[in-house]
Amino acid sequence: MSSTAPRIAIVGVAGRMGRTLVNAVAQDEAASLAGGIVEPGSSLTNADLGELAGIGRLEVTAVDSLDAIVDDFDVLIDFTAPKVTLANLAFCAQHGKAIVIGTTGLSDDELAELDSYRDRVAMVFAPNMSVGVNLTLKLLETAAKALGDEGYDIEVIESHHRHKVDAPSGTALRMGEVVAAALDRDLKEHGVFERVGQCGPRDAKEIGFATVRAGDIVGEHTVMFATEGERIEITHKASSRMTFARGAVRAARWVAGRDAGRYGMNDVLGLE
Ligand code: NAD
Repeated sequence: MSSTAPRIAIVGVAGRMGRTLVNAVAQDEAASLAGGIVEPGSSLTNADLGELAGIGRLEVTAVDSLDAIVDDFDVLIDFTAPKVTLANLAFCAQHGKAIVIGTTGLSDDELAELDSYRDRVAMVFAPNMSVGVNLTLKLLETAAKALGDEGYDIEVIESHHRHKVDAPSGTALRMGEVVAAALDRDLKEHGVFERVGQCGPRDAKEIGFATVRAGDIVGEHTVMFATEGERIEITHKASSRMTFARGAVRAARWVAGRDAGRYGMNDVLGLE
């Protein structure tokens, strides 16, 4: 929407995704890096963002509050934590900025709060910004419609690095939601997130989730459709955070200058 390169600021530039996002914005000729925010009081305040990201000086320094750069950016990219993201969303609503939110692990109340901004802020919110994952969601919808009520058991298995703080991953939940919606099921009713002890045989309609946390796995998701005699597995494996960061920058370019609304990667990628 924006005819000139949007000016992008990144929250959480000291984090795993934050550093990768700095790299992705710096590589993108259709966007400019306007600023980066670290936690209030962080020793990294005033650090050069390029040095933080390990790509050499960019002559843009980290600040520890959005107020310090309020006039410098058009779009904020936020991959941090739910409470931080909601505070930044309020800031964007107040100052007419667009926002791209990659943060996962929001509770139902936090999701409702996020949604309450849809008339005031142009936001892209997606638990996974990779183009491949969003294509995978479409494949899952097709598979679920074709197979689901013909006796196929559906299980979602996800693996991530040892530092991840929420489970199951936002992407796994999104995959479960897509499959459930395609089958007219409610994930809240049919999702099974724990099996331990004498839990009995599985119900035909349940959608099971299993979580692996180990080492440095960037993110792997498999949805299994299994019946007697065969099983189909649809798998996505991310090998670098750059795939999420590039998707987020694409979303930032797309949302700059748009009307208020809550958008997803489907909208950004024109997949609907
Ligand atoms: P991380 O812990 O490495 O980084 C989070 C950063 O946020 C930290 O550096 C922390 O200092 C910073 N932070 C916290 N409070 C802040 C504040 N008030 N102001 C500025 N910075 C603040 O975590 P990560 O691995 O980078 O993941 C961050 C989030 O992104 C998680 O919710 C994760 O699940 C999600 N994620 C989403 C996608 C996607 O495609 N949507 C992909 C990967 C990760």
